[in-house]
Amino acid sequence: MAGFFDTSVAYLKGIGPQRATLLNKELKIFSFADLIQHYPFRYEDRTKFYKISEFNDELQYVQTKGFIKRMELVGSGFKKRLVAVFKDDSGELELVWFQGISWVNAKIKPGVEYIIFGRLSRFGSRYTIAHPEIEIFNESQNKTAFLQPVYSLTEKLRSRHLDSKALTKVIQDLLVQAKGRIRETLPQSILSQEKFISKQEAVFNVHFPVSHDILLRAQQRLKFEELFYIQLRLFKMKLIRQEKARGQIFHDVSLLTQFYHEHLPFELTNAQKKVIKEIYADLKSGRQMNRLLQGDVGSGKTIVAYICMLIAISGNAQCTLMAPTEILAQQHYANLKRYADKMQIPIALLTGSTKKSQRKLIHERLQSGEIKILTGTHALLEEEVKFLNLGLSIVDEQHRFGVAQRAKLWQKNANYFPHVLVMTATPIPRTLAMTLYGDLDISVIDQLPAGRKAIKTIHKFDAHRLQINQFLKDQIVSGRQVYIVYPLIEESEKLDLKHLMDGYESIQRAFPNYPISILHGKMKPAAKKYEMNRFATGETKIMVATTVIEVGVDVPNASVMVIENAERFGLSQLHQLRGRVGRGADQSYCILMTDYKLSADSKIRIGTMVKTNNGFEIAETDLSIRGPGDLMGTQQSGVLDLLIADLGKDGDILQKARASAVRILEDDPELQKEENAVVRIQIAAMRKTAVNWSRIS
Ligand code: ADP
Ligand code: MG
Repeated sequence: MAGFFDTSVAYLKGIGPQRATLLNKELKIFSFADLIQHYPFRYEDRTKFYKISEFNDELQYVQTKGFIKRMELVGSGFKKRLVAVFKDDSGELELVWFQGISWVNAKIKPGVEYIIFGRLSRFGSRYTIAHPEIEIFNESQNKTAFLQPVYSLTEKLRSRHLDSKALTKVIQDLLVQAKGRIRETLPQSILSQEKFISKQEAVFNVHFPVSHDILLRAQQRLKFEELFYIQLRLFKMKLIRQEKARGQIFHDVSLLTQFYHEHLPFELTNAQKKVIKEIYADLKSGRQMNRLLQGDVGSGKTIVAYICMLIAISGNAQCTLMAPTEILAQQHYANLKRYADKMQIPIALLTGSTKKSQRKLIHERLQSGEIKILTGTHALLEEEVKFLNLGLSIVDEQHRFGVAQRAKLWQKNANYFPHVLVMTATPIPRTLAMTLYGDLDISVIDQLPAGRKAIKTIHKFDAHRLQINQFLKDQIVSGRQVYIVYPLIEESEKLDLKHLMDGYESIQRAFPNYPISILHGKMKPAAKKYEMNRFATGETKIMVATTVIEVGVDVPNASVMVIENAERFGLSQLHQLRGRVGRGADQSYCILMTDYKLSADSKIRIGTMVKTNNGFEIAETDLSIRGPGDLMGTQQSGVLDLLIADLGKDGDILQKARASAVRILEDDPELQKEENAVVRIQIAAMRKTAVNWSRIS
């Protein structure tokens, strides 16, 4: 049904073919429907005029009215600017123009009452607005005031005169034409239950709200709808898989029992036991397992993985454990091998740097079924890697792998899909997990092994350097080891690498008697392995590194993590790094070094780290300050590319949307009931336009 909403935006007055091409490129807006779904990202309240005395730092944008008191040109060359003092009866404000000076100069007249609108900033005690919107005030304007939409646009579009104002006009015209054509997209049952306004009313009011109240209702309804269709999709995928994807049945626990009786190195935590039970229930169910295992750093996921492998191996199957980095894969290999060797279970390691001859041998031993456990990096996804009977695939640190890679695992067994367990040490807030992994079952290890002392986290400045070095010395003298981590981000890689090397040198000067390791991403794998090994065996006492050590490296004897320029790290990254210590029985420390000057967000991050060790609490805070798009590992996932909902803020709506999706599909899995026709039609429409739908498929 190529209808009204499929029409290209090129046909709109004020757009035309050239701007349409630009809209396609810059914002992926093609059709009328796309444009209507380009919802404002904020609104300007033009119902309120602030008195200058009412200005405060919380206000971002203000509208005020008054008179220009005087104007003068200041500076010269590219610093030349026009500065005006603007006053009302309560105080004064500064207006500044850097461009278009002569135009402003000519336009503005003394003695005329103006409306000023713009972004407020403060220098000392004086408020300033740069490049304000300025209009002559007249009474009629005052009466027709309303909330104005502000649309996200790019510089390119603005340079072609498609700014927020211009787009507002275009959308306004489009909505006039669309009136009466906007279909309802939610079933009546949901509309009544949630007391939602209609789709049409919501669309009109999200662009041009007539009151704050109706705007809120419009947003709620549209957010719900967006999340509802995602959840519907995810839950449907889960249902289909549960129905269709048979899994090998593993119920024999003889190896597991042997391990428990003869080799278990420590008492498992209750959380570990609970999770193993959940996984065992999946493995013997006859359905393919697709489970996410969340557990904070140090919660003991490795042994859980091993125990689950034993269940599969007892059932004559093979297992893989895939890690995101070579170092981590090696470490997993070493850890698992300790257990596996005791039980004569053949295990191998396959990474990008495995030699060709060795690789060939591993391939053969996998195909013959001899190797039971294969650890490695994504190298084990390669086509030549074939198994006699792959039964269980475990993926560690999922956020570095894409969904597509997960799917590749599925193809490795022609008869059954292997059971899949995804382990992540990045605690994901519930709202996010429900969306990112809504098609998976979720298990959580929410407990650390007993006897582990909480890590003490301390915030320090450069001025404390000597004191800290002394503290590090004391730790080393008492037999402990120390990490010192430097930021390294791609954009400033060269400079960061220099900081790392400078840091390394000054540490060498401060600790002349101790051997020191260095580790960064630019080193060859062999060199990395060598340094890691020297540190792991205790030969070196200090490890100077970039965040390459962030994932999974396990040296229980390390008791101090110093993070340089801690303000430059994200919260989840800080938490991951901190998790490298506190793995032994000793008291461990995390020292966050920062500049004195910190942004508001940095303060929250550092403060949160000092305050809590709880990964889930940290993840929630991270989500609320950064928004989901920036959360570690979620970037590539298009799921979070939402039109209006915000997973950081809309947790409640998401819960409701999920509940509704589940209720509807459980009652009517094929959506055949008349009352769900709306849903069926909407899914078909979404498939066709492929906006939302393809992102999550
Ligand atoms: P992570 O969940 O971060 O992968 P690991 O599996 O690496 O954690 O476990 C961290 C450390 O805790 C390892 O040294 C491991 O041997 C140890 N460990 C795991 N479970 C327990 C337990 N129940 N009791 C004591 N130590 C444990
Ligand atoms: Mg781990």
